[in-house]
Amino acid sequence: MSEEVRDKILRIALQNAQDHGKTQDKIVLGKILGTEPTLRTQVKEIMPIIIEIVNSVNNMSSDQIKRHIQDRFPDLLLEKPKKQEEREGLPPLEGAEQGKVVTRFPPEPNGYPHIGHAKAAIIDEEYAKMYGGKLILRFDDTNPEAERLEYYAAIKVGLDWLEVKYDRIKNTSDDIELLYKKCQQMLDRNFAYVCTCKQETISANRREMKPCKCSMAELEQNHERWDRMFSKFKQGDAIVRFRGDMSSENTVMRDPVMFRIIETKHPLLGDKYRVWPSYDFAVAIEDSIDGVTHAFRTKEYELRNELYYTILDLLEMRKPKVIEFSRLGFEGMPVSKRVLRPLIEEGKVSGYDDPRLPTLEALKRRGIRQDAIRKFVLSLGFTKADTLAPFETLESFNRKSVDADSIRLHMVKNPVTIRIGSLPSSTITMPNHPTKEMGKRTIELGEEFYVESEDVQKMKTGDFIRFMGLGNVKITNQSPAEGQFVGDERGTDIPKIHWVVQKDALKIKILIPSQLFIGEQFNPASLEEINVFTEHHFNELKEGKEIQFVRFGYCRKDSMLQAIYTHK
Ligand SMILES: [Zn+2]
Repeated sequence: MSEEVRDKILRIALQNAQDHGKTQDKIVLGKILGTEPTLRTQVKEIMPIIIEIVNSVNNMSSDQIKRHIQDRFPDLLLEKPKKQEEREGLPPLEGAEQGKVVTRFPPEPNGYPHIGHAKAAIIDEEYAKMYGGKLILRFDDTNPEAERLEYYAAIKVGLDWLEVKYDRIKNTSDDIELLYKKCQQMLDRNFAYVCTCKQETISANRREMKPCKCSMAELEQNHERWDRMFSKFKQGDAIVRFRGDMSSENTVMRDPVMFRIIETKHPLLGDKYRVWPSYDFAVAIEDSIDGVTHAFRTKEYELRNELYYTILDLLEMRKPKVIEFSRLGFEGMPVSKRVLRPLIEEGKVSGYDDPRLPTLEALKRRGIRQDAIRKFVLSLGFTKADTLAPFETLESFNRKSVDADSIRLHMVKNPVTIRIGSLPSSTITMPNHPTKEMGKRTIELGEEFYVESEDVQKMKTGDFIRFMGLGNVKITNQSPAEGQFVGDERGTDIPKIHWVVQKDALKIKILIPSQLFIGEQFNPASLEEINVFTEHHFNELKEGKEIQFVRFGYCRKDSMLQAIYTHK
């Protein structure tokens, strides 16, 4: 292996170790193949070199790493490779060629996008970016019973919010005529047949691994029945079935549905068509004709891969590589419409943007940011095991993101009045952020302040308490609470409390979401509403503004007089 390649590997390993403390051979391999596609055929040869270099780098102290970089690759000190760092969790793609990778995000427009969609879309996009390829957004819309126009729009809005950029957008329903042609070919070659059995018979035969008599029919009869699916047959009268193997261990292969009649109007095409392809048939054909090279889908589809590849083999079509990843969800936050719809209908949750839900609308409303979602998804990497992630992990990414932009305000939950004498001035100014330049606000003082009841309970006459941003107060009476302003006397090593000037206090509501389900049970206490007093300044904030209520936590302004608790 050339010196040049060794140098490149060393450079990547040092850079990676500098950014993350340690490096890993898998990561270095992924990065070198990403930048040097010609090495893809030499993985066996370069792997030992990578392992050797990674080991030596991992044995260096951070000072040694820094010195090596200074000596050998001083340019690294100038660039901060943010994008590469973000993709850390994703392994290299098998068979990927630089510039030639095509991925697709294929949502069915049958509901509002949620965290599971976010994961898929982000992985699809990151891989396309990693290899300088393309991402297709394809609405898999061949089941008019479930699909609605508003969901196409909601999915696009969700992707825009996530800042997922796609190179092309299309609908599977655009290709329906082509899908009919492919079906025709399957019928011509006897790879498929039209079955007119009742649903119960079909299910029983599948269980008992028995073919039905339709599968024995002549080609002519199949064609005639296929034609009738477009005219005389009604929904449920006939389906096209793929001729699989009724005795297959893989139940998916037991003559699955390829086309069925659905009389419901399609959200885009109205009643122009009534014969619709199944997901299994459409996805294989579409992926192939769209030029998809790597088709990601969640692990629950794993058994369907055999069918996917078999359909393309029989039709002699190009085969993309199907790759599974685990589905992402949060504990106690279901995404299934079967579970959520009744809750919405019964008013137990307010809608698909209820802050207890993992829909993108809800997460946004709750104050979760798109960059935190992306980092979170990538941090989970590419495990196959289904992940029920703790919401706290997403929160910790989000906290890092919102902290710098959250205005600090005082807010009192359980107010007790304290009267303070000897105030030095009628107004004070307070910085909106402790470290970042976010401006200042002026607060008009009055003698009466709201403070937390639990803070008052701890006070004793003669105590010194620091009123944050104002100064120190000597407690002169416990009940009713009274004090005297004493400036900065007595230092700062005393209890610090927050406060709100009573005459200007603004009453608002804070919604505090928690886990919607505990086990299988709906948690009736999952949304707490508290009425609180905050500073008048809240009025001036735009809807959507992030706030840190001092000593309470991060919130997002939801409406005029309402905020939603994001996290601590
Ligand atoms: Zn049949």
